[in-house]
Amino acid sequence: MNKSYDVVIVGGGVNGGSIAFQLAKRGFKVALIEKDQLACKASHAAAGMLGAQTELTEDGPLFQLARKSRAMFPALADELRELSGIDIGLVNKGMLKIALTPEEKGEFKKIISLQRQLGEETSWLEPEELKKYEPELSDRILGAMYIPHDGQVSAPDLSMAFAKAAAVMGADIVEYTEVIGFILEHGTAKGVITNTGNIYADKVIVTAGAWSGRLLKENGIYISTYPVKGECFSVLTHKPLIEKTIFSHGCYLVPKKGGRLVVGATMIKNTFDEQVSLGGLSGLMERAKVILPAIEKAKWEKAWAGIRPQTEDGLPIIGEHPEYEGLWIATGHYRNGILLSPITGLLIADLIERKPVDEKLLRAFSFERSSIIQA
Ligand SMILES: Cc1cc2nc3c(=O)[nH]c(=O)nc-3n(C[C@H](O)[C@H](O)[C@H](O)COP(=O)(O)OP(=O)(O)OC[C@H]3O[C@@H](n4cnc5c(N)ncnc54)[C@H](O)[C@@H]3O)c2cc1C
Repeated sequence: MNKSYDVVIVGGGVNGGSIAFQLAKRGFKVALIEKDQLACKASHAAAGMLGAQTELTEDGPLFQLARKSRAMFPALADELRELSGIDIGLVNKGMLKIALTPEEKGEFKKIISLQRQLGEETSWLEPEELKKYEPELSDRILGAMYIPHDGQVSAPDLSMAFAKAAAVMGADIVEYTEVIGFILEHGTAKGVITNTGNIYADKVIVTAGAWSGRLLKENGIYISTYPVKGECFSVLTHKPLIEKTIFSHGCYLVPKKGGRLVVGATMIKNTFDEQVSLGGLSGLMERAKVILPAIEKAKWEKAWAGIRPQTEDGLPIIGEHPEYEGLWIATGHYRNGILLSPITGLLIADLIERKPVDEKLLRAFSFERSSIIQA
């Protein structure tokens, strides 16, 4: 296979798909190269929460990016359904961040006040109000931060919808093809070397999730990232036990279609091992029972694990490498890659098209932070 494109994207997860979709829509000739099957890694494992206010509690560039991305979902859901025929399962019923200790209660009340100052909707629910929303929750809960605009999607469906919509717009999707190197001429990216041949392109975008750092390092390019494994399980119930996503430190419960309940997730640093451990699962089960006692009677469905891509400073990398013209990187989305995927695709496409972007915001995710490229 020797082919030539405007852009070649390495990695068919949610971020590769989102970028492929945006660029193909704008008329670029795009190839999306996936080592295995589309969306088979973190983007398949994810619970699909759009937790802009739940996960990110401090004001800063990541919070701003997350809010912008969250706002894109309603229109995107319609657009992707129309193009790909896939329903991404967008649910806008809000999230509840529950407090199990007086310290958490105090902390969450401060977050509510800060987020309100930033113009976001959120309020505190005392236990009796909380029970009106979610009667099955445990009596041990001391109240909850209610976040009406943090929703959820089906992460695998979103990832597949991006890739399929990109294909409808003319992108070539190439599965079971591993990128093993980069074609670099005088410091400029000219394409990729795969296990089935070379693919030439003016721009190369690495979106290989937790494997991005490894692939780049094997080719002498250093970015400061590390993997964080996460395990989840799901159960089935005849009637849904909860309506809203319930989030707490160390455990969340996400109600899906058909009485499915996804419980996640563990956090194990510096491993690419995708096995599910008994220790990880039993810890999650214990926490889930404390939050939602009725889960004990639910029917077991399955368990799985995925590897999140994290950076040393906790911010994703979105931009062109300063030393290699035409080599772009979008990774390090850590726990929020599903939430951040729409804005990641949009920003990379805007930057490549040299459209005006919010430069102040983007600087925080660019290679200007030198720690990202120092070994
Ligand atoms: C258990 C768990 C729960 C999560 N829950 C949420 C959540 O609720 N909300 C949220 O926003 N985020 C969540 N996340 C985080 C989110 O899943 C990730 O941030 C996101 O999926 C990263 O997407 P990606 O496209 O960058 O990487 P990935 O989905 O990992 O995709 C990278 C792709 O690149 C491919 N690849 C790797 N190397 C090569 C190569 N050399 N050549 C070609 N292809 C290659 C891989 O096969 C893979 O398909 C969760 C993650 C985990 C693990």
